[in-house]
Amino acid sequence: MPDPSVADVDGDPRQGRIAKSPYRVLYDEQCEICQGCVSWLKTLDRKNQTTCLPISAEVLACVDSRLRMDDCLRQLHVVTPAGAILVGWDAVAGLARLFPSTWLVGAAGQRFPVRNAGRLLYGFVARNRYALSKCRGGACRVAKPEAVRRQARLGAFWSCYRFGFFIRSPLVLWAGIKAAAQRASIFARTYHERLELLDGKLTLLFLNGMLPNAVPLLFGELFTTVLYDGVAIDPGSPKMRRSLARHLRRVRPKIAKVIATHAHEEHVGNLNWLSDVTGAPIYVSEMTARFLTPFKKLPWVRAAIIGQPPNLRPPFTVLGESVDTESGQLLVIATPGHCDDHIVLYDPREKLLLAGDAFMGSYFATPNPDVDSRKWLVSLERMMALEIEILVEGHGHIHTLRPDIPDFPGVVIREDPKVAIAEKLDYLRWLREQIDAGLEEGLPVRAIEASCFPWGNRTSWESCATDECIRLLSLGHFSRTELVRSFVRTNRDPLPTVYEIRLSGGGGPPCR
Ligand SMILES: [Zn+2]
Repeated sequence: MPDPSVADVDGDPRQGRIAKSPYRVLYDEQCEICQGCVSWLKTLDRKNQTTCLPISAEVLACVDSRLRMDDCLRQLHVVTPAGAILVGWDAVAGLARLFPSTWLVGAAGQRFPVRNAGRLLYGFVARNRYALSKCRGGACRVAKPEAVRRQARLGAFWSCYRFGFFIRSPLVLWAGIKAAAQRASIFARTYHERLELLDGKLTLLFLNGMLPNAVPLLFGELFTTVLYDGVAIDPGSPKMRRSLARHLRRVRPKIAKVIATHAHEEHVGNLNWLSDVTGAPIYVSEMTARFLTPFKKLPWVRAAIIGQPPNLRPPFTVLGESVDTESGQLLVIATPGHCDDHIVLYDPREKLLLAGDAFMGSYFATPNPDVDSRKWLVSLERMMALEIEILVEGHGHIHTLRPDIPDFPGVVIREDPKVAIAEKLDYLRWLREQIDAGLEEGLPVRAIEASCFPWGNRTSWESCATDECIRLLSLGHFSRTELVRSFVRTNRDPLPTVYEIRLSGGGGPPCR
């Protein structure tokens, strides 16, 4: 992943594509308005007719020797394929004409009287844009910091951040609707489904339940039990029991062991039940066993939707360094981070990692309060040391390039698992830097959170609707705020939870 701290506006506009795209758009990457417009441009431009280039002396020299830095910082400049330079409103109208949905605006904008009105409006915004320019969270090196401080109404930071959101709000909404449609389609395709792979050695049983179904539909996490070489891993929650029973009736798999990767409710609620119906012994880590006897009372939303798991009933065996399967062995590797007791199971012969929740997509941004991201970084580094060709997540995604794993859109993700883990590592390391810098500056939690999701970074606004929906429906339990907090958990002086932050005032207390 490119470094998101350097105002990576919706992709990678900088490297090596200056000569290829017909329309070259030069924008001020220090300006929230310019960045917002680039987000729109990237969304509209489906045929890659434009390349957006942040202004710098080298870029200008490379694009066209007639371009002057001061002029470009003052107004938008676009170099057309014919070599003409469009400036200000004329550049906006010229770009608008390129796309079917904005063609009319562009065509009208090149004629009297819309052109004159457009030029007036553009001039006004261009003169005042420093009132809204960005100060942290992507691009903090504004050209005129004094002007920003003088003119920004809510303080430079919040002015910029809110204005950046305002410009993109229709895009945020649209991305939210698109993501919801995608989730619904994956949910429909996996409903009560089973995916048999590697000649039946690996099977994913997709689990459903009336209330648990809300999770894949709203958040995109699928519930699964993984069967691997005679071992059943993470048999779901009590509210998914009927679904699991239905699978067992249909498949009648040979299950010789039941294992849980960690003590979260959607993974452990049927341990004893599955053991009772199959006669297979239960294996859990020592810490997971401790967390399950007794199982702590869940917050009511989670208990209502997923279901409160029963306490773990003996007999059970504590996992050692490895566990035998039908035809081989799985190594048991401690991977705290997602929660303290997390383990992953690794088959070195197949180069297959059963990752549970130790890997949840590269940009997963709404963890729960159990997450300790600093420990998670160490665990991901441990996973990076393994040779992995197939990575099976605990929530229904498989990352692999192996041709013997067939396509299953929305479930099988065609990427090198090691690349996916490396991206996740990069992302977490960047977050750590942002959060450490914010703490050092004594910024409030909410400001640190905002700076971890700069709008110039496409994933920030594309996942915003979903992330905020998760925050709302989980009553703050799973949120971007928890992601910040997950880096500041210490045994001595933890950050307040999201509830405490709210109770102690909207702006949140300083971090220390
Ligand atoms: Zn979990």
